[in-house]
Amino acid sequence: MNPYAYDLDERDLKRERQKARELRQSQWWKRRCAKGRCHYCGRPTPAGELTMDHIVPIARGGKTTKGNVVPACKACNNKKKQLLPMEWDAYLQSFHTQP
Ligand SMILES: [Zn+2]
Repeated sequence: MNPYAYDLDERDLKRERQKARELRQSQWWKRRCAKGRCHYCGRPTPAGELTMDHIVPIARGGKTTKGNVVPACKACNNKKKQLLPMEWDAYLQSFHTQP
């Protein structure tokens, strides 16, 4: 065990969560939500119901950058938490295979 490495991880997590809070206040994010569409399923979703989702989760080394956060509806957000990465891919495919 390396307690120092653990500390670093905790600090990274906190920093990324703080960045997410700041990004959520930004005009860039508000504009993205104003489009009213979930990034994953494409369903029209009121801006107030869109949540910020990290494509690569912070816990897996993802960063809070404009390229890694997307507006997601609650259904997709919940699915992403419950599903394994493989199952999540299949879920996304189900939207993309539609004509
Ligand atoms: Zn969705």
